[in-house]
Amino acid sequence: MEAQPLIYNLDIPGLTDLLRAWDEPAYRAKQIWQGLYQHFYNSADEFTSLPKSLREKLASNLTFGGMTPASKLSSSDRHTIKTLFRLHDGNVIEAVLMRYDNRNTLCISSQAGCAMGCVFCATGQMGFNRNLASGEIVAQVMHYARLLNEEGERLTNVVLMGMGEPFHNYDNTLAAIDRLNDPDGFNFGARRFTISTVGLVPAIRRFADEERQVNLAVSLHAADDTTRLNMMPVDKKYPIADLIDACRYYVQKTGRRITFEWALINGVNDTPETARKLASLLKGLLCHVNAIPLNPTTGYSGVATDRGRAQIFKETLENAGIPCTIRMRRGIDIAAGCGQLAGSSISPAAKN
Ligand code: SAH
Ligand code: SF4
Repeated sequence: MEAQPLIYNLDIPGLTDLLRAWDEPAYRAKQIWQGLYQHFYNSADEFTSLPKSLREKLASNLTFGGMTPASKLSSSDRHTIKTLFRLHDGNVIEAVLMRYDNRNTLCISSQAGCAMGCVFCATGQMGFNRNLASGEIVAQVMHYARLLNEEGERLTNVVLMGMGEPFHNYDNTLAAIDRLNDPDGFNFGARRFTISTVGLVPAIRRFADEERQVNLAVSLHAADDTTRLNMMPVDKKYPIADLIDACRYYVQKTGRRITFEWALINGVNDTPETARKLASLLKGLLCHVNAIPLNPTTGYSGVATDRGRAQIFKETLENAGIPCTIRMRRGIDIAAGCGQLAGSSISPAAKN
């Protein structure tokens, strides 16, 4: 059976059209919008300011909340919470909340699976199932916004670094961001979103032309095409030179700093020579490098760089003028690290 559409799929004009079709006054759209995005209502019953007849129409035509949390895991330090959501068609996606240093950063998915096939990534290893609807992207954010709201807290950042390639689902991803950005609704500032891409060159150029305030991160991971192609099939279509050209175009168009992501893999991409090659590739580009020791996945034999080598990599880059941060691996005990958000981690629900 086809599920009723998610209410989070609708923008204000869509909601207004629906109300018109039901012979309801257009001003109800704003009431519903505020209920959803400012009061975090999760079912039609909660809209007590609406007439009962309208609540019934909403309940019988639309899905609220939208996704069933299939399981929830907390890391041993309890700062990382991972939720698996079961979608109406049985697909499972994940979102992870990281609570550190007064920040509540949520990592969300843009697709069920991923078509890009990066060999070191658990999502890449499972393959592509389908794009998420914009409302399914919105619903992940609202799920956590609601939980935090109950504790008097808020989300501070949302990163598209869960399952999937956001630029392979460009329209729905950006529609979700626009919906959450609406000042009359959830009002989550564009600058608090980060899109991470594998490096789809035409999409990076399109994104640059849209001159949005949303942050951009690019998964580079290698400084030469031979190494990168071994890790990321996408490099065949969009080699490093074209990718860096598109990144330069982005910075020139937007004036915004770009982040390059780098999973440090022992002996593969973590030598001082590689750091120097990377520095010359990125020379003059407003950017910084976010390096993270590889998270282990079952389908890839690479090993994480140790702390000492990571530090040398960072220092070599910085001595050559490229800022670099080494990120700690967090939530690793619940497989909530980057690239681990995949079906293989589905396990019985833990009590939280
Ligand atoms: N598809 C997008 C966003 C999701 S992946 C992208 O590739 O950018 C988010 C980040 O996790 C990317 O930088 C990705 O390269 C990285 N990643 C994937 N698997 C990883 C692993 N096993 N260890 C460390 N980082 C990984
Ligand atoms: Fe897809 Fe990103 Fe994983 Fe590559 S790293 S397979 S693009 S999710």
